[in-house]
Amino acid sequence: MPEKHSDYSIRAMGLDGRARVVAALTTETAEELRRIHDPSPQVAVALARLATGALLLASSLEKVTSQEPILTVETDGGGPAGHLIATASPAGWVRATAANPLAATPRGADGKLDVAGVVGVGGNLVVTRDSGHGEPYRGIVELVSGDLAKDLAVYLTESEQSPAAVVFGVFVVPEGRVDVSGGMLIQLLPGVSDEEAEDLVVHLGELGALSARIAEGDGPREWLATIFPEGCTILDEGPVSFRCGCSTDRVESALKLLGVGEIRAAMDEDNDRRAVLTCGFCHEAYTVTHDRLRELLAEVEAQRRSSRAVSSNI
Ligand SMILES: [Zn+2]
Repeated sequence: MPEKHSDYSIRAMGLDGRARVVAALTTETAEELRRIHDPSPQVAVALARLATGALLLASSLEKVTSQEPILTVETDGGGPAGHLIATASPAGWVRATAANPLAATPRGADGKLDVAGVVGVGGNLVVTRDSGHGEPYRGIVELVSGDLAKDLAVYLTESEQSPAAVVFGVFVVPEGRVDVSGGMLIQLLPGVSDEEAEDLVVHLGELGALSARIAEGDGPREWLATIFPEGCTILDEGPVSFRCGCSTDRVESALKLLGVGEIRAAMDEDNDRRAVLTCGFCHEAYTVTHDRLRELLAEVEAQRRSSRAVSSNI
């Protein structure tokens, strides 16, 4: 049995600074997501890819205030899994969830899990970059394949105007456990010759299926050595893991964002004058008293009155 590594990610530059690569091993993280949501195998793979993709994209966010920057990737492809969402930080933590974790589609004729089938196509892939300073930046592209790798590559190519490729390697055993998970994104910056780009494609072919390399015990360091045989510069390297980061404050803020109707619905839950609110990302249960819900309701109504007053003054 090859030795199993803990999850980590690497940012590196190849081709003398003209190719940017982020690579992450996420097996333990994806398995933690599976334990939390108990999804179908197809949704387990979709969540692993989405969470890995969010980590890869989040690595480029810079910390500009004391607040941790956050990157969110969402899909609404109209597939049976419904809305999928992952949020990640450049510090290496990620969380993810699906509206319908038990959604499943028949396996393809080749026996492969039909991940695109549960995600769907034709809807949108939305990436929100929140640096913690100013308005978050939001980019939207159409979901063209639903396999998430091609979709994230399209997003990167369109939003950053440079050719990009995203590869994932996720394998779920028939009983449902995530056996291997990882991913890599490569961006070609201006100045890469056609010959260099062709060589890179050849080296990516030599790398083979990422899931097979992970199963052999290889991680981002070994992948980079294969795709850049002439060497590359490691910019940074750090652990990645699941972390939700929810709290009573955040759950209350989320409830306030949902509005008056949702707060009233929570108050209708008559459980010894308390409502139990459950975090969709980690299933942690928060108990909020009816007195506190009334305070939240008053705050939302006061905010609505003041925004109406402002708009009538314009
Ligand atoms: Zn949570």
